[in-house]
Formats: sequence, C-alpha cells, structure tokens
Amino acid sequence: MKRNRKAKILATLGPASSSSDIIERLFKSGCDVFRLNFSHGSVETHRQNLQSIRALEEKYDHASCILADLQGPKLRVGEFKNTDESLKKGQTFILDTNSELGDHKRVNFPHSEIYEHLTPNCTLLINDGRIRLQVIEQHKDKLITEVLNDGIISNNKGVNIPDVILPIDSMTNKDRADLQKALDMNVDWVALSFVQQAEDITKLKKIVNGKAMIMAKIEKPSAVKNIDEIIKVADGIMIARGDLGVEMPTENVPIVQKNIIKRCRYFGKPVVVATQMLESMISNLVPTRAEASDVANAIYDGTDAVMLSGESAVGDYPIESVSTMNSIIENVEKDKNNFNLEIENNESFKTIDDTDAITSAAYSIANNAGAKAIITFSVSGKTTLRMARERAPVQIIGLSPNITTARKMQIAWGVNSCHSTQDAANTTEMVNIACSVVKNKNLVKADDSVIITAGVPFGNAGTTNLLRIAKIIEDKNLT
Ligand code: PGA
Ligand code: MN
Repeated sequence: MKRNRKAKILATLGPASSSSDIIERLFKSGCDVFRLNFSHGSVETHRQNLQSIRALEEKYDHASCILADLQGPKLRVGEFKNTDESLKKGQTFILDTNSELGDHKRVNFPHSEIYEHLTPNCTLLINDGRIRLQVIEQHKDKLITEVLNDGIISNNKGVNIPDVILPIDSMTNKDRADLQKALDMNVDWVALSFVQQAEDITKLKKIVNGKAMIMAKIEKPSAVKNIDEIIKVADGIMIARGDLGVEMPTENVPIVQKNIIKRCRYFGKPVVVATQMLESMISNLVPTRAEASDVANAIYDGTDAVMLSGESAVGDYPIESVSTMNSIIENVEKDKNNFNLEIENNESFKTIDDTDAITSAAYSIANNAGAKAIITFSVSGKTTLRMARERAPVQIIGLSPNITTARKMQIAWGVNSCHSTQDAANTTEMVNIACSVVKNKNLVKADDSVIITAGVPFGNAGTTNLLRIAKIIEDKNLT
C-alpha cells in the first residue's frame, strides 16, 4: 500500500466507525493510524476494533498502527436530577462532596483532594468553557462559586482549571486498568491526556516498559511551559487543541501549535495536530474553507500527522472526512512554491552521531541524485525516525525485522513501514533483501535507484553506519 503523500492521518474510532467494514474503508481512504479513545466506549469494543485493524495487515500487506488514548485526570461534575440546569450570570453555585443528584444550586464535584488548592478568585471552566465559575469561598467539603456567564450545565461535564498546577496523580485508577488492557492487546502507541510535566511521562514509561511508544498530549498551559522537557522524554507529542483551547485563550493556540511543531521537528519526535480540523464534517459532506486551510496550514508547518476526532468517531461522514483530509494533504505537498520543510540551519543538531550523519547524507543524495526511495534497515525504528526528521523528498521505507517496530513507525512523516523477517548475513544480502522487498510491494520500479541505510553488524539496534546506493533491476533474483 503506497500513499501519495508524506504527512499521516489519524482517525478516532467511535460509534460511527466501530465495524470492520468501516474500518477497512477508513484505511483505504487514507487512515494511517487508528485511535482507540479510552475516554469513551467499552474495552470490549476497543478490542474488537483492534482485531479488525490487525486483520487488514495481511489483506493489504501493510503494517497497521494503533494508538490507545488514556483519559488521564479529567475532572468532571456529577449528575443532575433533571439531567441539565440553566445557570444565570451572578448567581451562586456550589460544588460539593455530597453524592446526591444536583439541582440549580449545587452539584457533586467528586475531587475533594483538590479543594484545598482552589482558593478564592480561581476560575473553573465547565463544559469546554461554556460556563465559568469563580471561587468565592473555599471549604473542606464545598466550594461556593459565582457564575460568570449564563449557560447550561449538565451531567458529567468536564471541568478545566487552567490557573493551578494540581497535585493530582497523572494517571487515575481507570487509566491504570485501561493501560493494562491496552498493553495486553499489543497496541503500538499509548497517549496520556492532561500531562503537566515530564515526570508524568517518565512514570508512565516505567509501567509501559518498552511495550508501546508513548505520546504526551499537550492540553495544559503547564505542559506548554515544560514542552522541551516533555518532548525529550516522550516518543511523540499530540497538540490536543480541544482542551488546550479551553485551558488557554483560543487565540494562543495557533502560536503554540507552530512552536510545538518546530520543537518536535528539532528533537525528531513525531507530532500530531488534533481536534476540530474538519469539525463541520460531523454533519456536512464538505468542510468549510477555514477547516481546509487549517489542515493545510498544519501540513505547511511540517507536522507529522493530523487527526480526526468527532468527525470519524461520531459523525455522519467518517469516510469522507478521511478522504477530504487525504486530498488536502496531497495538494499541499504538491505545492512546490510553498511546501519546503528543510530544517533551518540554526536549528541543526549541535552533536551529530553516526545515525544523524548517515541520514543527513541520505537526504542530500536523495535531493541531488534522483533516488526514488530511502530504505532504512532499522531494528528499533530509531534510524527511520531520524530519517523522517530530515523530511526527505522521496519515500522513506522503514524496513524492520520486528513487526512491532514496523507498526509504530507508520505514524512518522513520509515513512512507509515494512516488516521483513529475512536476515542479512552480509552487505550484498542486505541490498538484495531491501531491493526485493520494495520491488515486490510495487513501491519502486525497475531502473529506479534507491538509497539504503543499515548497521553492521546486522540485527543490532543503534548501529547505523552504512549507506549504499543501489539500482532496482528487472531480474526476479534482483540486483
Ligand atoms: P481528547 O483530546 O479528544 O481526548 O479530549 C484531544 C483534545 O483535547 O484536543
Ligand atoms: Mn483532551
């Protein structure tokens, strides 16, 4: 399976897309990574979806990539007698530890451990910021607040508290249980919501213990502040604009987006731009011009991937949303006048190791010698990611003897991951294997030249030290 684009598409599965037929159509329309959102849906549904995705692997001879997204410490109000209540500006509203159903005067807020940090004047944003409450009086078991604007509050709505670093565990008991289930299912990536600092990721990393790659969702101002430290310890980053746009002024989100993409490209970590990219397609067949521009601009910024949430999870047009994203990306990448992702000189690495030296040489050969593909032999995926960082103008074929590595790399810009169990004993065999894999998959044609990077001795992670240029020949025994 060869896509005609470099940037990748993530699609969230939900009630609108939880069938093997729709999953297959999402894949064929361009979905590269499937997101299982553990904030919603049952573990059983996630497991069935995962099996449908894995089943495509053989049918299309294409490694599949699955991201499990953990809810994280999302705060919520309890439930109401009448499901919802309308609150008026200026009235008093109480959040308390009382488990009875709420009314227009009060509701349960079952997070007593944070009450002591919600001092007077601190603002609470409910239902994506639609209602703002300001703390007036703080008690051990209740918070008396003033309602700052008219609005509707309803069952289990989310609560954002941007001003305060909350001393809460970065993972809830639900997250720990979901994580275990996700790892048992062999997901490829795990994302953690509401990360506040690098330590949240290092803690998760200890539990995951190398079984999956880890993505930090940036949706709190404190995470934006600690972004470099977080990028260094995470394997990838999601710019989670939904909650981020509630926790900080919306007008700051575009700037934060550009800066985070830059930092991720600098560190060579995959980055995903998420939420509301084609929002109106939840109920319309075509996107707004502004939405098309939003996807396009993320691609011009050099993001590795863009993500669909509600559009593919609960919308009326999941397939069309993916194919729309696909066409927007293909078009931007053809725009030779404006689409240039070279890393600026002042952003180049100060210390260059062997892998960087090889990938940067491969980049310049691809640029100058007309090669059609760069094939990276990579056990751990590290060389493949370093190659993706260069944003080379040709396809990057990440070849790995580990199926798990092949799956994980599908999220990275320009990478088409292949799994090959053939073992190379020497350089000639390595060249033969590389050329036959890409030729058999129709990723290149006879007479094309390709660049191959590998490490000698073969099979060891982290030893990339070899670069070859080879020509694909017609012969079935090859090269
Ligand atoms: P969510 O994360 O969809 O899990 O909330 C993405 C975001 O907040 O943008
Ligand atoms: Mn979120």
